[in-house]
Amino acid sequence: MADTKHRANAPLTRPQFAHESEEELAKLFDFYGIRWEYEPRSFPLEWDETGRVIESFNPDFYLPDVDLYIELTTLKQSLVTRKNRKIRRLRELYPDVRLEIFYGRDYRNLLFKYGLAKGWDSPAPYVKTLAHDIDRILFTEAQIQERVRELGEQLSKDYASKSPLLVSVLKGALYFIADLSRAISIPVAMDFMAITSYGGEKASSGAVRIIKDLDEKITGRNVILVEDIIDTGLTASYLVKNLSARDPASVRICTLLDKSVRRIVQDLPIDYRGFEVPDIYVVGYGLDYRQLYRNLPFIGILKEEALSRS
Ligand code: 5GP
Repeated sequence: MADTKHRANAPLTRPQFAHESEEELAKLFDFYGIRWEYEPRSFPLEWDETGRVIESFNPDFYLPDVDLYIELTTLKQSLVTRKNRKIRRLRELYPDVRLEIFYGRDYRNLLFKYGLAKGWDSPAPYVKTLAHDIDRILFTEAQIQERVRELGEQLSKDYASKSPLLVSVLKGALYFIADLSRAISIPVAMDFMAITSYGGEKASSGAVRIIKDLDEKITGRNVILVEDIIDTGLTASYLVKNLSARDPASVRICTLLDKSVRRIVQDLPIDYRGFEVPDIYVVGYGLDYRQLYRNLPFIGILKEEALSRS
């Protein structure tokens, strides 16, 4: 299942933006899961007698999902006049091309107009503050929800007559198991364990200790170990061994994220995986850094300054 479709969609290298405001707008698009391309097309506007293009217009962004070009304008009034003339010409020559002009901070209104800003006001102010520490979003809320729904469908098929037991490890997989279990259309039970792994920091100790064990016996049950992220694989490998020793009918792993490049345990079969992630520390959707950021609805990478803050 580690196909390219389920890799982080946001490339790790950003285009070279001409203005900071463009970069801000790109981040806003990312935040809302709106796909964008930066300066993807040049529209010729004037030609000389030989047919050589002497003037053209390159809109800043293209939003493929709504087939809309965006030109961001934060320039001085004198330059705006020239730009407006170009835009008029573009509209004459390319009447089918949809172009909107964003005047500085007006872009927020425009997002509303196109129904793209759904949820703009919904995150609590605290969550918005946390989101400021995010450098890049790897998986948007919508992408996560879609993938979780697919995994739920797959599990419902594979375990159709088996009434599986979802076993999850607190607290990272909290949101994942909550959403996954609701995406499963067959009877499921749930149980939880708590272990120590990374403590409050980023570095792996590799050591695993059970702080809270399962409430129920798992003898003869079909267990699905629901994990947030598998990194070195040490935690999952320990848990699979520990659960297998209790005589279940089966134990399989379902992880939301797989950082397979970091794997130390080589023989760890992962039957269900949401997304492949690069070798970067990620937060959000249950994943923390020093117990924070779990309640971000997306999965992202922290800014350097947030990581170094004590
Ligand atoms: P492993 O034993 O596979 O190396 O580590 C698994 C655990 O490490 C996860 O359950 C998670 O708690 C933590 N972990 C590994 N990578 C990350 C990451 O990128 N972000 C966060 N927040 N936790 C991670």
